[in-house]
Amino acid sequence: MATTPARSLGRTLIPLDGEVSWGCSGQGWNCCVDKDVPVRPYDVRRLAEAIGRPVQQLLDDGIVSLEWDGYGILGGWLATRPYEGDRSACVFYEEVIADGRRVAGLCNAHAGRPEACRAYPYQRHASGTEFEESTSLPMAAQVFDCGSCALAERTTPRQVMLANGLTDYWRADDAYRAVALYLHKCGLAHLSNSTYRQLPLSPAARLALWSALYTSEGTYAEALASVLDAADALIAASGLPRSHLGGAGEPLARPDVVGMIED
Ligand code: SF4
Ligand code: SF4
Repeated sequence: MATTPARSLGRTLIPLDGEVSWGCSGQGWNCCVDKDVPVRPYDVRRLAEAIGRPVQQLLDDGIVSLEWDGYGILGGWLATRPYEGDRSACVFYEEVIADGRRVAGLCNAHAGRPEACRAYPYQRHASGTEFEESTSLPMAAQVFDCGSCALAERTTPRQVMLANGLTDYWRADDAYRAVALYLHKCGLAHLSNSTYRQLPLSPAARLALWSALYTSEGTYAEALASVLDAADALIAASGLPRSHLGGAGEPLARPDVVGMIED
C-alpha cells in the first residue's frame, strides 16, 4: 500500500457547453496508452460486475490498486502492462495486429469501463464551483488530447459525456465525494494529511475503514452508508467530541447517501 501525492492529470478548462470538434473512433490508441486511469468505488463495483470477478479479487490480483493521495483520501487506479518498449497500456487494452501493423484497439472491459474512460477526453468537476472561473459558465476539463484516432464532428463536452452513460456515475460520484469529505472532516483521513485534527486510530484501522468503500457488500448506497456507520462508531468509541476532530468550527452533517443516489 503506497502513500503518494495525487497523480497529476494535466488538464485545460473549457466551457462545458462550448462547441468542440471531436468524435471518438473507439480505437483507444491514445486514451488507453501511457495514462493512469483513476477509479473510484462505483467504478470498481461496475467493473467487477461487467467482467464477472469479485472486487476483492481485482484488488488481490493487482488489477486495481489503492493508494492514499495527498489529501489523505484512498483512491484507486487501474493496473497497466508493458507496451512497446518502455511505454505502458491499460491492463484491459488489447490491439489487433495484422501483417505487423496495428489495425484496431479494444477494451476488454468496455461495458464496465470507468468514468474517466467514458468521459475521455473530458472530465466533469462534481463540485460545480472549481470550474466556474471568471466566465461563470459551467466548465469541463479537457484531460488529454485524443490525438490521431479522433473522427471530428461538432459537439460539446457535455454531449460527449452524456452520450457515454455517465449520469449514474456522476450521481454515485457525488455521494462518494460527500462521504470522503465527511471522513476527512471527522479526522479520519490518512495521517499524511495534517490539515485536520486526527482521530486516534491505527493506520490499519484507518485503511480498513476507507477500503470498505470499495469492498463492502450490498448495494452501493448500502456500502457507503455502512462506512458512515463505522466512522460514527469509531468517533463514539473514542469518547472525543466531534468539535475536537476535523476542521475547527465546521460541524459537518452526515450526508444522505441513499437520497443522493436514489432520488
Ligand atoms: S478518439 Fe480519443 S477517446 Fe476515442 S479512442 Fe481515440 S484516443 Fe480514445
Ligand atoms: S478500461 Fe478500457 S477504455 Fe479504459 S483505459 Fe482500460 S482499455 Fe481503455
